[in-house]
Order: sequence, then C-alpha cells, then structure tokens
Amino acid sequence: MQLIFMGPPGAGKGTQAQLLAALWKIPHISTGDILRACVVAKTALGLQAKAYMDAGELVPDQLLMDIIQERMDQPDATAGWILDGFPRTVAQAAFFDTLLCDIGTGGKSGKDCDIRAVNLDVPDNVLVTRLLSRGRQDDNEETIRRRLQVYREQTEPLIEFYSDREQLVAVDGDRDMELVTAELQQALSGDS
Ligand code: AMP
Repeated sequence: MQLIFMGPPGAGKGTQAQLLAALWKIPHISTGDILRACVVAKTALGLQAKAYMDAGELVPDQLLMDIIQERMDQPDATAGWILDGFPRTVAQAAFFDTLLCDIGTGGKSGKDCDIRAVNLDVPDNVLVTRLLSRGRQDDNEETIRRRLQVYREQTEPLIEFYSDREQLVAVDGDRDMELVTAELQQALSGDS
C-alpha cells in the first residue's frame, strides 16, 4: 500500500492518514510533523524551515527532497506507507518518481507502480473555520489564507498530474470524519 494524501490544509488528511496507517500497520509519514519536530529541536533544518512555515509558505523543495529521501530509506518504509503533505509541488512529485525508481520498486518509476494519490475535497469556507479552531502556531487567519493560496497555486496541479496517470482517488472530505474514513477504506483496500 503506497498512498499519497493530498488536499488543502484543514481537509482532514492528517487525521485520516493517521487512522488508516494504524489500521493497515504502515507508517504515517507527515512532512509537516517532521519539520515541526526539527523546529522544536532547533536543528539546522528546523531553523531554516521555521520562517517559511510561520509565513504559510512552502519550505524549499530541496530540503523536502532530502527529508523524504532519508525517511524512505528507513526499514519500516519498505512494506508501504501513507505520505501526508508530500509531494506538494510538481518538482517534488517528479523527484519522488525518481526516488521510487531507485529504491527497490522493481525498477518501476512512480508512474508505473501502485501508488494511489488521494485527494480530499473541502470548500474554502469550511477549511478556514476548521483551521481557526485547530489553534496550531501557523493557524492564524492571515497565514491560513496564504496557505490556501499556496495550495491552489503549487499543490493543486498535482491532482491533474496523478489523475492523468489514473492514480487519483477523489473523496468528498466535507462530511463526518467517520464517513470519510469508511469511504477511503472502501476505495483503497484491496489495493495492496
Ligand atoms: P502540514 O502539517 O502538512 O500542514 O505542513 C505545515 C507546513 O510545513 C507547511 O505549511 C509548509 O510550510 C511545510 N511543509 C510541509 N510539507 C511540505 C512540503 N512537502 N513542501 C514544502 N513545505 C512543506
């Protein structure tokens, strides 16, 4: 099971990814969580990333590529994974294809292997309300608006990228969490 969870900030991808990863006993890999841990630990990477995160901007691609490469090298990532928040740009997705090709997917690139890219669709007004109630450090109204804009400009093109390859699973995320989980389970199981 190799899953990429996409969707705007506040769509519930973190919650769903965590739940399903626990259910399917595969790692939940959130680049946002990895970055926040680096910020807290004040590593060189954390210090570099913090200003971008606080402003609602994307952290530069190269840093994310290094992070994901290192994480995919860990032994628990061989049987499958749910990626939450990566890739977020077309450049990251292209890099990830090459990485998958390099690391034992039988020589297949991302284009040919069994990845599924899940998009959770939620209207903007619902997202803003959800994010404001979450209260994370980067969840103030100005940053939220900027993150949504960045999502539309830089991440939304990935929907077409994966849809063109018939790897996209689109799910309506504007419903009760349990209903979304059930639909994801149904759409994705039997896929491993
Ligand atoms: P998230 O927890 O996924 O909402 O991510 C929080 C913040 O971390 C984002 O607003 C970005 O600043 C940064 N971030 C996380 N993942 C990525 C990524 N794949 N590319 C660039 N920046 C990222």
